[in-house]
Amino acid sequence: MEVKPVLALPEGLEVTGIEMIDEVLTITSVSTQIQPCCPLCGTPAVRVHSRYMRQIRDLPCSGQQVCLLVQVRKCFCKVPDCARKIFMERLTPFAQPWARVTLRLYQIVQILGLATGGRLGIRVTDRLGIQTTRHTILRRIMALPPEPIGQVSQIGIDDFSFRRGRTFGTIVVDLQTHKMLDVLPDRTADTSAAWMQKHPEIEIVSRDRGGDYAAAARKAAPQATQVADRFHIFKNLSEAVELTLARCRAEIRKGAFDTLSEEEKQVVKPLSLPTEFVSVENWKPAPNPCTERDRLARHEQRQDRYTQVTALREQGLGQVEIAKRLGLTARTIYNWEKNGFPEAGQRRKQRSMFDPYARYVLSRWEQGCTNGLQIYREIKEQGYPGTDREVYRFLVPLRRNQRIIQKAVVPHAPLQDFSAKYAVWLFMRGPAKLDEKEQATLTAICQASETARTTYQLVQEFRNMLHTRSGEKLDDWLSSVKVSQIRELQSFVTGIERDKDAVVAGLTLPQNNGLVEGKVNKLKLIKRMMFGRAEFLLLRQRVRHAL
Ligand SMILES: [Zn+2]
Repeated sequence: MEVKPVLALPEGLEVTGIEMIDEVLTITSVSTQIQPCCPLCGTPAVRVHSRYMRQIRDLPCSGQQVCLLVQVRKCFCKVPDCARKIFMERLTPFAQPWARVTLRLYQIVQILGLATGGRLGIRVTDRLGIQTTRHTILRRIMALPPEPIGQVSQIGIDDFSFRRGRTFGTIVVDLQTHKMLDVLPDRTADTSAAWMQKHPEIEIVSRDRGGDYAAAARKAAPQATQVADRFHIFKNLSEAVELTLARCRAEIRKGAFDTLSEEEKQVVKPLSLPTEFVSVENWKPAPNPCTERDRLARHEQRQDRYTQVTALREQGLGQVEIAKRLGLTARTIYNWEKNGFPEAGQRRKQRSMFDPYARYVLSRWEQGCTNGLQIYREIKEQGYPGTDREVYRFLVPLRRNQRIIQKAVVPHAPLQDFSAKYAVWLFMRGPAKLDEKEQATLTAICQASETARTTYQLVQEFRNMLHTRSGEKLDDWLSSVKVSQIRELQSFVTGIERDKDAVVAGLTLPQNNGLVEGKVNKLKLIKRMMFGRAEFLLLRQRVRHAL
């Protein structure tokens, strides 16, 4: 079995001592390479010039910093026509000639940097026992050579925002390997065209419905088939449908009203307000919520006592005995037996500071002044000494009556709360995906309006075409829309015709931009991890070298 030495130092380095110096694990070692070679001509050296100590930081050990002190040699190169006369012994690839860290430490910092970004990276390296700075981490990320993109035949291209909706970049994804290939600093046609130009092997470009990527592909990848993204096509259609439904709201509402019977349609004239409910003499305010709660609590207690009395009576106890046991008077028990349990009766009217103003308030209410504050101000002016809250409580019974009346007189037709924004999703989804209530609403809408009915048919036809990838039916569909004369759908059709080949491809081919959308989310995640301050180049490095 091959045993790896604990420190995994390369051959040719011999450890001569290990000690802790200032909380740094310091490993002293000496280079034992047999004959160091001249880096220029490669000839082994025959004579040593001098020796010196190189100090190189290495991977941490159990959370402690590690420093290597390596004794290396300076040698003479004796080859007459070699330009180098004296050279230093190399430790490559373990450590680069002038480096102060080993290659493996360098790479670990780079990997941590790619995974976490500068600021977060520092928190990780601190814990691990790696001494570095945010700037070093960023430098290491930037030092990574651009990975060659290689051959790519199917790309998805889309935009993303650097800063919420203000500046945009472009992301390019390989639709076959699902890899993010590149990010571009803007979303102009020129920039993406320049990128595509370098890849004449591209066969398919999946893109959104905007004009820029389409123009770029036309110019720089004319050999490629353009595929308009299905999601975007469907979204455009849903926008047109929403506009249609919004325009037809009145039509739909009227249609729904017409489904009512003649009797139901009859608008009953609102009755004059039923002041007979509220005569000045027995007009009581709504109970104060606190006292009402207490009253109910006491009522509960009384009810419970009554139950107890009945039970004891059935067991044959006399009134006096029961009164004694329950702490009641015999008179109460006698009354209960005679009259039954007193239900929570009508509260008696209590005299109130409000009474002298009651007649005035009632007449104002009948004139249509229902604003409590206004009424309070008016009677206060006349000398009412109470609070506004008291007035509001007196108005509660009036309001309650009013509500009952209004409910009774206005005919209630379905769909009066129709909203195009909501209805559009009933239209766009497949019928199987609607629950019973949604299905009923949809049916009602389609019954109420012919425009809605036609729209629904067209939408579902389009949906089928999209799901069964039968782009060849597009022409027929376009003609039916033209016949329908629904103007919002007409402008959707105009848009489709401008970009028809790509739309047909989108409705036919399996490729689409769903994958790209996913990658945009991943990109946003990387961006946020860098506290949203990612410079474009740094972002690009992290995306292209994403782990
Ligand atoms: Zn040489």
